[in-house]
Amino acid sequence: MATYNIWTVGCQMNVADSQKLAAGLERIGYTAVPDDVDADLVVINTCAVRQHAEDRAFSKLGVLRKRQAEGAKFDIAVMGCSVGPKTADLRRRFPNVAVWAPPQQFDGILELAGNARDVSEGELGSLLDGGMARTWAVPSGSTAFVPVIHGCDKFCTYCIVPLRRGREQSRPVDDILAEVRFLAGHGVREVTLLGQTVEAYGHDLDAGAYGGRDGRPDLATLFAGIDAIDGIARVRFLTSYPKDMTDRIIDAVADQPKVCEHFNIPVQSGSNTMLERMRRGYAVELFEERVARIRARMPDAALATDVIVGCPGETEAEFAETVALLERVGFDVIHVAAYSPRPGTYAERRLPDDVPAEVKKARLRVIEGLHARSSERINQRLLGKTAEVLIEQLDELGRATGRTRAGQLVHFASPGQVGDLLDVEITQVTSWSLRGRDARSPVLTVV
Ligand code: SF4
Repeated sequence: MATYNIWTVGCQMNVADSQKLAAGLERIGYTAVPDDVDADLVVINTCAVRQHAEDRAFSKLGVLRKRQAEGAKFDIAVMGCSVGPKTADLRRRFPNVAVWAPPQQFDGILELAGNARDVSEGELGSLLDGGMARTWAVPSGSTAFVPVIHGCDKFCTYCIVPLRRGREQSRPVDDILAEVRFLAGHGVREVTLLGQTVEAYGHDLDAGAYGGRDGRPDLATLFAGIDAIDGIARVRFLTSYPKDMTDRIIDAVADQPKVCEHFNIPVQSGSNTMLERMRRGYAVELFEERVARIRARMPDAALATDVIVGCPGETEAEFAETVALLERVGFDVIHVAAYSPRPGTYAERRLPDDVPAEVKKARLRVIEGLHARSSERINQRLLGKTAEVLIEQLDELGRATGRTRAGQLVHFASPGQVGDLLDVEITQVTSWSLRGRDARSPVLTVV
């Protein structure tokens, strides 16, 4: 029996890529093992967005290299955003890696795996589709990620994604809906539509009678198509890009009952001068106008955002503008990161990394504190109320974990099963999670 283990770091797109590769490997007779020491093929799926994520992957590769040097027999493949046109130094550092596969170009890995098992060329060919594995990931729970658009055309100065994942490329509507039907048939109740800038979906597809920009399909087209698929109860989407978020898409979120009122819209900075240096392509005013539109249609919508502190040239005054914006908007969740230059980006080549590390750290702590306070305040509003929760995990003692429509994690006791959509009374809150009681089962408590 041939075995594989995939180690994944980074965003949901990477998780989805790993699941897709896993489905391809299983089609040619491989079985997943939880520990890489038992695997014939170890795949490292990397993220280059932050130095820390790359360091973790390279340290993992170092451990694998040592095991091989000690005589262990297995193959290593590396995929994801750390693999790009300038990977030569990595290849020199890790000559033991058999395949370097750029993001979403799995063919080399499937060929390596297939050749190790004498899989016929015909069988292998049926799996490959211009680099992408022609498989859908078989879901293992009640939720699944569905990439709808790959790549990014925005070229923010600090970001490596467009350099590694290429230009925006939307999947055809029918292909996506067929995948969602497949997932529904395997017990999935919630799908998350993924894109680096998910509202850009469809701009590169042929025009028809879709109703999006110039008759092209858009995210609202997908929401309507998924609405008609039995079994799917919830739809999420991420990551949003303020300038691409049209009224039509906001209205579709408000009007389609399956679509969760949960927006992940990175603002990155609350200062227009900083946004210009980042080349984000919008001003704070546009961002706030989009938030106002969302709240006008959905007063209880959950808003999450991303912020980068310490980008080149960020002054105290610019940082203060970011703090002020975050306080004005009152986000449910704020993901914050300190800037680190990524090789090859405009910022790395042209903008000096001139904010001292201790200043970055201090700014990080300010935003983290803001996030904890704002998130607890928002969670407090749920205390004593009933929220719709989808069970994602359940142990043998009946301890369930699920999420509200706003994406908050809830722990509660339930006689239900994974995939159940329940009303849960919220009995305890912290900044990071909620505890509750299955409204149908008054005697059960979480321990
Ligand atoms: S929108 Fe900007 S930050 Fe987001 S993936 Fe594209 S280039 Fe990177």
